[in-house]
Parts: sequence; structure tokens; C-alpha cells
Amino acid sequence: MTPIGVRRNVLGIHALVWVKEWDTANAEIAIGRTADAGFDLVEMPMLDPGAIDVERVRAALDRASIDVRCSLGLPFDADVSSEDDSVVARGEAHLEKALEASSALGAPLLTGVLYSALGKYQSPPTALGWSNSVNALGRLADRAERLGVTLGLEVVNRYESNLINTAASAMRMVDEIGRDNVVIHLDTYHMNIEEGDFAGPIFACGDRLGYVHVGESHRGYLGAGVVDFASLFRALVDVGYDGAITFESFSASTTPMELAGTLGVWRGNWVDPMDVALRARGYIEAVLTAAKEGRLDRHKVTRVVA
Ligand code: MN
Repeated sequence: MTPIGVRRNVLGIHALVWVKEWDTANAEIAIGRTADAGFDLVEMPMLDPGAIDVERVRAALDRASIDVRCSLGLPFDADVSSEDDSVVARGEAHLEKALEASSALGAPLLTGVLYSALGKYQSPPTALGWSNSVNALGRLADRAERLGVTLGLEVVNRYESNLINTAASAMRMVDEIGRDNVVIHLDTYHMNIEEGDFAGPIFACGDRLGYVHVGESHRGYLGAGVVDFASLFRALVDVGYDGAITFESFSASTTPMELAGTLGVWRGNWVDPMDVALRARGYIEAVLTAAKEGRLDRHKVTRVVA
């Protein structure tokens, strides 16, 4: 139960926990399961913005009273951090399509690896690539503002981008873009690889933090890995974060082949989506409530949940 006087964070789940293919029928399945599992919102992939009938999917979201956020990672041939102008232009066109689809779905946030390709680079970023990305995202943010959409920059680990691997570098990019509708999106799976701890990056972002992914160190069951969720949730409560908290998990049995290859999802972390989802929701609610009530100093996180 939510303590009186404490604003409740909206809880989300990534659509690819539920389905392996992404089309209109599978989007409708994902919406239904999201509601069945007691989540408030579903995050939908925009890897192929034309994959779903947005009018039908929006109607399904409305019927189920489920909120939506959208996310993507750019392909290497449409990388806005490239030094090649034609590649940057393809990246901007891809982002514009995704922005239009997100807006049509009613999503207030388009997030992910919008600033570079999603994948392993073989060399460090260049100054020109960084500024190409800043300029492209500034233009996209202006279009997004007219549509009432906020852009999120998801901080990911070194194997999934070379450009923004820490909250500190995300803050630098947000400052350079200089638009109010650009926020930082932190993800515990990536933080575990790149950051020193799970609280410092939250404080570093402060009110620029606009979205949070909770994922375990192996991207499976929450609480079954090494992520320090107690520190994370204490810090979220301390900075007054009142945005969405979305569970992201991948298992070889449900991740689409191409994405599994990019993310290195080779193993089966779980086989039953409803089981991993229900346990994740219970875990998030238990630890978040304990953090809000100041109980995490006395209880280890593993003792708060069953
Ligand atoms: Mn994530």
C-alpha cells in the first residue's frame, strides 16, 4: 500500500518481456498482459516505427487505461553521431519517423539510444561526431516540443554505444543541446557496468532525470543479481523522483533475434513472462515503499521481499 502523502511512481514494463515479434497484434497482446500484471505503462520499441498500426494500438491503450513510452536505438547506417553527413541525415529521418509515431500513440516520451547507434563501436567518439549528435538532437527536440513529446537520452554501457556511458557525460550532452524537453534516462543494468555506485548518478542528474529502467545485472529476475537496488531507490526518494520506473528484462526465449544479437542476449534468464513480471512488480513496490518509509537502513533488500 502506498503511504499517505507520498506520490506514487508510475510502474512500467518493456513490451518485449511479453512478445517476441513486434506488430499490431503483438502490441495488443503486450498491452493486455501489462494490465493483467498490474503495471501502469508499457514501453514500446520504435526500432521500426512503421511496424504497428498506431491508431489501433492507441485505441487498445485507451481501452486498457495503460500509459505508453517509446524507445529505440539507432542502427549504424543511421547514426547521428557519424562524421558522414548522409549517415547523420538518415539518422535524423529515422528519429523523426519514430517521433511522429510516438506522438500518434500518445507517448509523452521518446527515449533510448537516440544519440548514436546501438551497438559495439570499434573506436572512441570524435568531437565532430559528438557535435553532429548534439545538433541533430537539438533539431529533434524542437520538433518534439511542438508535439508535446520529451526526449530521453538513455545512458548505456560501453558495448552498446561509445558516446554516453555515464550520467556525467549525459549531463554534458543535455547542457549542450540546451532544450528543456530533453531528459536523462538511467538504467541500473548499465549503471552496474559503468558507474561507481547507484546513488551518485541519480544525484548528478537531479531534476534532469526523466526516466528510469530497473534491470538486474544479468537482465533477469530482479533481486537475483548484484545491482544495489536499496541505494538506487533511496536516492530516487531523496531527489524526489516522481517519474516512471520501468522494468526491462530480456531472455533468449522472447527477445527478437536481431535485438538479441545487438544486446548479447544468449541465455534464458526466465521462461515465464508473467512470473518474471509479477515478481518484478512486487520487488519494485516493496523496495520503493521501504525506501519511502526509511526502512532500508535496517533491512537488507533481499529480506524485504519473498
Ligand atoms: Mn534500458
